[in-house]
Amino acid sequence: MSKKLFRYAEENRERFLDSDDITFSDGSVVTPAEVWGYLTEEAPARYPHAFEINLNQGSRAIRDETFPTLLKTQYLALTLSERMEKARDNGRSIAFIQGGQTIDPYTAADTIALRPANVGNWNNGRYHGKNINQNARIRKEKKEKSYHDMTFEACQTAGYEHIQTGDLRVDIIAPYTTLRCSDISYGVEAHRHGPNKNVKLFNVDFPLRNQADKPWAVEYFANSLRKLIKLLDESTGRTTTEEDLLKAIKLHNEGRRLSIELTDLWWSASVPPTNGDDRQTLSSLGHLEYGDSQAALSVLKEAKKFLAERVENGVKGPGVRDNPKRLFVLGSCVWVNNARSEIDGAIVVGKDDGWSTVNALVDEEGDPFQNLARATLQYPYEQGIEERARWTIEQIKRSRADGVIFIHRWGCNTQASISRAVVDVIKRETGIPTYIHESEFGLQHEQEHNRVSAFIEML
Ligand code: SF4
Repeated sequence: MSKKLFRYAEENRERFLDSDDITFSDGSVVTPAEVWGYLTEEAPARYPHAFEINLNQGSRAIRDETFPTLLKTQYLALTLSERMEKARDNGRSIAFIQGGQTIDPYTAADTIALRPANVGNWNNGRYHGKNINQNARIRKEKKEKSYHDMTFEACQTAGYEHIQTGDLRVDIIAPYTTLRCSDISYGVEAHRHGPNKNVKLFNVDFPLRNQADKPWAVEYFANSLRKLIKLLDESTGRTTTEEDLLKAIKLHNEGRRLSIELTDLWWSASVPPTNGDDRQTLSSLGHLEYGDSQAALSVLKEAKKFLAERVENGVKGPGVRDNPKRLFVLGSCVWVNNARSEIDGAIVVGKDDGWSTVNALVDEEGDPFQNLARATLQYPYEQGIEERARWTIEQIKRSRADGVIFIHRWGCNTQASISRAVVDVIKRETGIPTYIHESEFGLQHEQEHNRVSAFIEML
């Protein structure tokens, strides 16, 4: 059965062509005309699933096509697979990291750092001409194989199978072992026993439980960062210096600052200036990922101008209802079906995951290893339950949320075990309605959204 595909409207073309180029780390430039051509001709043929209107799977009919930044982030996401293949052909080194960390040391060591979601995106991009269900099935089959080859007790978000089968040319698996994620450090160990012995492995050991202010912990983590960079250098054959790390910290601080400004601006608006998907895209741009930090920064730099216009003119994001109930979502690697939630009369205004690390500004004076270690150990999401909950309450208040949903994935053991305690503190301190549910990573399940719908109805 042929599916209805979304198409960008020609009437928005001229405004888009007026926006800035995307500048990549290697100095190459892609013009808005090239991005427009890709999104309207090449990409719908190559990746029809990304243009399919299917609300049950979170693919919305209304895209925010008058906001040029959002088309550019879609361009960066859809070209990631091809760009990673080219990067490897050109001898670039690629590291697999975890979702709850920043990437400054990898940038310093000229290594592309990919979170699990980006590793999955790289793999999915190798399949062309698939509709949304076929695409979902490919992901599901990979995951089932990982359950079989590794363990069914891990979430299997982390791309074990792609790397072990040699489908993706990852050089090194070197995540921080932050508490957030129980899969990734377990996954590093699992790779030691898999058939692919070529990939280098390293856990950047993260001292847990209220260690952030302790000098030994800062020194210990700074040393782990030095070891990480040494190992990355073995793959690239270069020698990364303190100056390189400071330069990377400055680059990423710029991204983090811009992202914080964007989020503050979004939260200050009298009506939601974008829909929930787009708010999340703008907020997380500050991680400077998409496999190219410079490209992400060049897109992020012009975003504030477009958002400020909307906020000033009181423009509401497409698809958002009048006076929607504001939801704050907690948990690792989770989301709700934003399109369906908006039809139900709500909007997601914030998430703790990701936002925690965007806020980790690093001091630019003094030893960059120690400064990065100190900022990393202070990730709010990684603190003890009470402290994490207190930080979350601040974000809930700043975003004026009416309700809180904590979601934990199957196999995401830390989040599953602390969700009740975190939510209890929030409920006790704020009195706003909360609820918790478990879900499986991957598809947007109808039953899962029915529960979100019921919560929105209650709000
Ligand atoms: S769902 Fe949890 S265990 Fe899985 S990758 Fe995300 S944080 Fe890690």
